[in-house]
Amino acid sequence: MNIHEYQGKEILRQYGVAVPNGHAAFTADEAVKAAESLQQGVYVVKAQIHAGGRGKAGGVKIAKSIEEVRQYAEELLGKTLVTHQTGPEGKVVNRLLVEEGCDIRKEYYIGLVQDRATSRVVLMASEEGGMDIEEVAEETPEKIFKEVIDPVVGLTAFQANRLAFNINIPAKLVRQAVKFMMGLYKVYIDKDCSIAEINPLVVTGDDKVMALDAKLNFDGNGLFRQKDILELRDFDEEDQKEIEASKYDLSYISLTGNIGCMVNGAGLAMATMDIIKHYGGDPANFLDVGGGATAEKVTEAFKIILSDQNVKGIFVNIFGGIMKCDIIANGVVEAAKQVGLNVPLVVRLEGTNVKEGKQILAEADIDIISADSMADGAQKIVEQVR
Ligand code: ADP
Ligand code: MG
Repeated sequence: MNIHEYQGKEILRQYGVAVPNGHAAFTADEAVKAAESLQQGVYVVKAQIHAGGRGKAGGVKIAKSIEEVRQYAEELLGKTLVTHQTGPEGKVVNRLLVEEGCDIRKEYYIGLVQDRATSRVVLMASEEGGMDIEEVAEETPEKIFKEVIDPVVGLTAFQANRLAFNINIPAKLVRQAVKFMMGLYKVYIDKDCSIAEINPLVVTGDDKVMALDAKLNFDGNGLFRQKDILELRDFDEEDQKEIEASKYDLSYISLTGNIGCMVNGAGLAMATMDIIKHYGGDPANFLDVGGGATAEKVTEAFKIILSDQNVKGIFVNIFGGIMKCDIIANGVVEAAKQVGLNVPLVVRLEGTNVKEGKQILAEADIDIISADSMADGAQKIVEQVR
């Protein structure tokens, strides 16, 4: 799960990690009020969307007066911001962060991520901050330094010191930088983060080390014990179909193609997407209905697929193991009854109760193209949507 920059900064503040003073605003009036409560004459008005790259896309504005704060707030609110992370459709700005303008002496990068290869949390840092860290990693990898953290010991002051020296934090500010890193690590562990990225971390003209940006992502599997984090969820930033699917405990991810997929098991779902691609098609979604799905759950899954305007055909690919084919068949029939099926439907059933499943489909009054194998089904649906 993702949260906004201003929410991330609030959490950092609670953990003693330095961030500029600032407030969230939903309207231009609120933005003005927020600016008036700050101590400074220079303000920064920042679009709050769940994507980075806002600076280059015009989503971060420096205002030299309250009037300018109002002007920028009016300009940004309601605007669709397209950054290299939003995709071409962009994201609508509904919230702003108004914070104190910072006298930046130098920008650095610092981030905590999980390294799946070592199964450890890694602290990464670079003196090439502010820009795309991917680009730095590509072109000048020697400028990225890493500390692998032992989960039992945690981040040590020694490691944080070493990293601070490696990225050339001015010697007299190393203690501040170490405190910053220790605080950031504590946030990461306490809140079950999957990413905690500060880009840029800055050293200011008055010798402060602080976070000018904050990207915190949380491990979905830890959210059951992070109630305060769950409250920060912004549904406007998420795909409506994914929200609907999560209510029914379905693993659903929207994609950009036109073949809706209903599959059981994540592995089979991946393989189904691959084989559709192999035959020249494009999946509209990843959907794993899971092992223990009921007919009701299958019905909802089918409805979600049908609600996608891009879907021009559906491929149901089920291997009945724990999941029984007749349950899937009932779900498909029920959903088709409820919402009406107006696109071609290819079904491939195999495994437990396959006979019963096929019979239910055959007896139902819906047009179904049945397939004998995965390859056969994929070819048929690709042909249909052409
Ligand atoms: P993004 O990563 O989405 O582009 P950032 O929060 O990193 O957004 O902001 C982009 C740039 O804007 C920063 O690298 C920094 O130079 C500048 N900036 C952001 N916040 C402030 C601030 N409070 N004071 C001064 N400059 C800022
Ligand atoms: Mg940034």
